[in-house]
Amino acid sequence: MLPVFALVGRPNVGKSTLFNRLTRTRDALVADVPGLTRDRQYGIGRVGPGPYVVVDTGGISGGEGIEALSEQQVRIAITEADHLLFLVDTRDGTTPADLEIAAQLRRTGKPVTLVANKVDHLDWTLAAGELHQLGLGDPQPIAALQGRGVSALISGIFATL
Ligand code: GDP
Ligand code: MG
Repeated sequence: MLPVFALVGRPNVGKSTLFNRLTRTRDALVADVPGLTRDRQYGIGRVGPGPYVVVDTGGISGGEGIEALSEQQVRIAITEADHLLFLVDTRDGTTPADLEIAAQLRRTGKPVTLVANKVDHLDWTLAAGELHQLGLGDPQPIAALQGRGVSALISGIFATL
């Protein structure tokens, strides 16, 4: 069985961009519109020591209606996963939603890697200190759009399997 890595986090943090980068596809819809991925999307990861299964999910945002349905899909993805990649947007620092999601993820008891995405936007070390508030250890910096840090991220996860 291939290890399964699930991508979770608020809408618009770059989960689908990372999915496409890892799977070397354009299967996941990427847009500036938050909450675009309503279902789980599966792909074979080809970046890093691989192979592995990558699961893209809709964002966790705490909304109702279709948002809540999307979050149910997220819960299924988390159940299926061997390792959770929790993405945050370093431009936003640590938001209340991120703190809530971090607490939920810690309760799953699954291994979680905190992924600080969009580090192309700033001196990310400024944001890194704040991200420790999430209680998930050192953030792993990446820029999913450019692919920076992505291979090292996956290598680090494989080292823990
Ligand atoms: P999702 O809702 O979490 O799946 O986020 P998306 O993958 O759809 O990305 C949301 C927006 O963030 C898109 O406009 C992406 O191009 C942008 N984005 C993703 N990764 C990066 C990155 O590393 N740097 C920058 N500057 N933008 C990014
Ligand atoms: Mg998406």
